[in-house]
Amino acid sequence: MERVPFLDMTSVHQEIRADLDQAVSNVVDSAQFLYGPPVQQFEEEFAEFVGAKHAVSVGSGLAALTLTLRAWGIGPGDEVIVPANTFIATFLAVSAVGAVVVPVDPDPSTYNLDASTLRKAIGPRTRVVIPVHLYGQPCDLESIGAVARAHGLKILQDAAQAHGARYRQNPLGVYGDAAAFSFYPAKNLGAFGDAGAVVTNDGDLATILRKLRNYGSEVKYVHQIQGENSRMSTLNAAVLRVKLRRLESWNHRRGEIALHYQQGLRGVDLPIWPPQSEPSWHLYVVQSPHRNQLLQYLQDLGIEAMVHYPIPPHRQAAYQNLAMPWGSLPVTEQLSRQVLSLPMGPHLSDEQVERVIETVNVGVRRLGVKAMRGGWQNGRNRRQTI
Ligand SMILES: *Cc1c(COP(=O)(O)O)cnc(C)c1O
Repeated sequence: MERVPFLDMTSVHQEIRADLDQAVSNVVDSAQFLYGPPVQQFEEEFAEFVGAKHAVSVGSGLAALTLTLRAWGIGPGDEVIVPANTFIATFLAVSAVGAVVVPVDPDPSTYNLDASTLRKAIGPRTRVVIPVHLYGQPCDLESIGAVARAHGLKILQDAAQAHGARYRQNPLGVYGDAAAFSFYPAKNLGAFGDAGAVVTNDGDLATILRKLRNYGSEVKYVHQIQGENSRMSTLNAAVLRVKLRRLESWNHRRGEIALHYQQGLRGVDLPIWPPQSEPSWHLYVVQSPHRNQLLQYLQDLGIEAMVHYPIPPHRQAAYQNLAMPWGSLPVTEQLSRQVLSLPMGPHLSDEQVERVIETVNVGVRRLGVKAMRGGWQNGRNRRQTI
């Protein structure tokens, strides 16, 4: 039985192996392990790729979020609205600067932040909203932007899963006040370790971030503010430059796989995203009321499906202080019980994708029959053409 892996970076790196080796070797020869030329080169190339004026590289996606909030002076007493259905880093950035995290339920069809829910959560202390383009599916930035502007909120996009995604035909860097990206190895554009970047059209913000990431200093041993140590290594910048050249074609392949899934899958809820927008397809996530059984069924047949994410941040021990029991955010909680991420990435062949589709469809039918006997509800089957 052939396995269908969730992720296979070795095979993806194979096609660019010579370029990667050369890039690494150049850095070793230069011995400039921080602030070597590839760092600024990558920043310029990445800013252009996402349609923003400036990119500031930092140590991780979490640092990109945290440092931007710090640069804006967000701190104790301020509130930041985040979608509850996200990776915990979105919450942690808000807590790291001492602000209050205000999680809201997402739109139940797109799983992303909803403008009307956002409006209801805004209070006198709200300063920032962090729309997360979860799974690489763009949020509805127009309606979110209108609400944020009307209430004087800053928009910090969490684009950690959305390198190359487009909203209404534009790259994401065109929107909001800043966008945070992660280059964690398994992301669509992944480094050889942790790395991140903030992109923005605001030159003043970029200047503050350049200080914050480097002990508050732009000139050696002159420290204007109290900063951190959060820099992207030259090695990672060099690797990311090589991989950035392939990103468009890798994302295109992800889009083809998503189209196969959209057309072939039956009996599970499919992803929905705003019109004229292009997800980056970091993950391909379906929903089923029989998620756990379906996951087991797929794993038994060698198909590596996963769950993103099984426990929402507001129900983690780390966020006991929020005092939000089960039932506080019903949409998010239901998603955590029903979402299933199918294998997705440029490492997959058409045959592997077909095998995933067939196996899901057969599994859903079997489990559905069992479920009807047990009195479970069948999921709606939502679809949208690409
Ligand atoms: C990966 C991720 C982050 C954090 O990025 P790191 O580089 O791992 O710190 C933040 N938000 C979301 C939505 C992510 O998926």
